[in-house]
Amino acid sequence: MPEAKPKPSKDFIRAIIDEDLRTNKYEGRVHTRFPPEPNGYLHIGHAKSICLNFGIAEEYGGLCNLRFDDTNPSKEDVEYVQSIMEDVRWLGYDWGDRLYYASDYFEQLYQYAIELIRKGKAYVCDLSPEEIREYRGTLTQPGKESPYRNRSVEENLDLFQRMRAGEFPDGSRTLRAKIDMASPNLNMRDPVIYRILRVPHHRTGDKWCIYPMYDFTHCLSDSIERITHSLCTLEFEDHRPLYDWFLDQLGVYHPQQIEFARLNLSHTVMSKRMLGQLVEEGHVRGWDDPRMPTIAGLRRRGYTPEAIRTFCERIGLAKRDSMVDIALLEHCVREDLNKRAPRIMGVLHPLRVVIDNYPEDQVEELEAINNPEDPSMGTRKVPFSRVLYIERDDFREDPPKKFFRLAPGREVRLRYAYFITCVDVIKDENTGEVVELRCTYDPATRGGDAPDGRKVRGTLHWVSAAHALPVEVRLYDHLFLKPNPTDVKEGKTFKDYLNPESLVVLNPCYVEPSLAEAKPGDIFQFERVGYFCVDPVDSRPSAPVFNRTATLRDTWAKIQKREAKNQ
Ligand code: ATP
Ligand code: MG
Repeated sequence: MPEAKPKPSKDFIRAIIDEDLRTNKYEGRVHTRFPPEPNGYLHIGHAKSICLNFGIAEEYGGLCNLRFDDTNPSKEDVEYVQSIMEDVRWLGYDWGDRLYYASDYFEQLYQYAIELIRKGKAYVCDLSPEEIREYRGTLTQPGKESPYRNRSVEENLDLFQRMRAGEFPDGSRTLRAKIDMASPNLNMRDPVIYRILRVPHHRTGDKWCIYPMYDFTHCLSDSIERITHSLCTLEFEDHRPLYDWFLDQLGVYHPQQIEFARLNLSHTVMSKRMLGQLVEEGHVRGWDDPRMPTIAGLRRRGYTPEAIRTFCERIGLAKRDSMVDIALLEHCVREDLNKRAPRIMGVLHPLRVVIDNYPEDQVEELEAINNPEDPSMGTRKVPFSRVLYIERDDFREDPPKKFFRLAPGREVRLRYAYFITCVDVIKDENTGEVVELRCTYDPATRGGDAPDGRKVRGTLHWVSAAHALPVEVRLYDHLFLKPNPTDVKEGKTFKDYLNPESLVVLNPCYVEPSLAEAKPGDIFQFERVGYFCVDPVDSRPSAPVFNRTATLRDTWAKIQKREAKNQ
């Protein structure tokens, strides 16, 4: 039985929608959209927006469109379009037949621009980009009107048509909205709505040499698609008057823009520009590097859609920006994997153990439980023999006080197997490094319990050396050492805070032989060690490469405890 969870109180966006439904504002419709620009891979911040937009549509029996906001051909690419669709689907959402591209509206947008010109609300401006910036003024100083601002409608229509026809060089002219150069809101100071740019577009080819700007395109695309609630992040709050202005001037269907705080996550960066830089400069192995906060990276790392959706639900919605500790995301991943990942035994830092009194040629198949959280996942057989590997960390020649694992003369349990006692320590003659332990086992303790009731305090995982599968394991840690790497000191860049140990490769590690059959993407809990997933890119048949998805240490629980104490 799933636990009955109390329904979380409604966030401010759902409260607005409830009210709009009550007043029948959009004839009872709820229609949202997720509008990525195809200029990079989606990241966990986008997942928040996806869960919100598609989630709301689901909850209210409404619709959610996927719309590519593709108005900037110099940075966009079909590779990104493909990856975005894959990521949205993988998160578990479906846009049905509502896949749109802002570029499909180019003709319509052009007609809207003509209409603005006709209404005396837009003009062709010959100022250069630098001059436009100069004329714009600042937060404390009003802007200056362009000398081209009062061109006649006829002249504007003529020039704009010729801009489209390709008569003028790139950057030489723009179409601008005629609003108010003295507005306290800089976005309202005659913003550019079209620019000349001879860059082929990944969908429209070289059909256009003028491209509409984001603010003009976005509100009108929302209007064309009859969106009801246009949910976006806080940085667009100052753009809302412009969003409304275009729609009001043109007198078209008017959705409402509502802003929410973007997700910021500690120990990583959340901007496509910065992530792209990490890829280009080789700080990571690609957009899908398991250290990246991209959906593709998290998927390759072994994060599940369910865990990401739970995370997005837990962080909730706010109107003020804040930073979420990455430990919460990791906590959600652990919580999910704990239920679904089968347990296996795998040794990351192998130390050889020889059991002196175990028959040389004997092999036993011992029964092991696949998931104590879920008996329906059954059991499996694990081979046991005379020579084993255990974790190097599980032995100390000179054990400190609370160390209950193996040490000279000490007895421990091998999980699902026997009690063993360490009787001798073999060292490398030159380095003094421990290279092998000699042990004895007690045949009466088969399965892991002593019939005489004697107890041991340590239980170790192990693999049989002759049967184990050697594999490569990649350990991942936070990509950045600093919680907020975008808070840069003078003379530094965010890249100066990269964690040099964000990837540690171990090879060979040894895992149970059954893992030769593991498939790309399969996730396991290596008992006592962590969660690991079969890398879908670098694994070969019978030679899996494992990505560490998460450790078993729940730092989030610790943080919660500390916070509770401080309150
Ligand atoms: P970035 O700043 O990473 O380049 P972006 O905002 O430019 O992101 P878009 O493709 O324009 O990326 O984003 C698509 C949608 O996702 C937008 O509605 C945007 O508001 C939302 N979004 C982007 N980043 C976040 C975030 N960190 N948290 C929540 N929503 C986000
Ligand atoms: Mg954007």
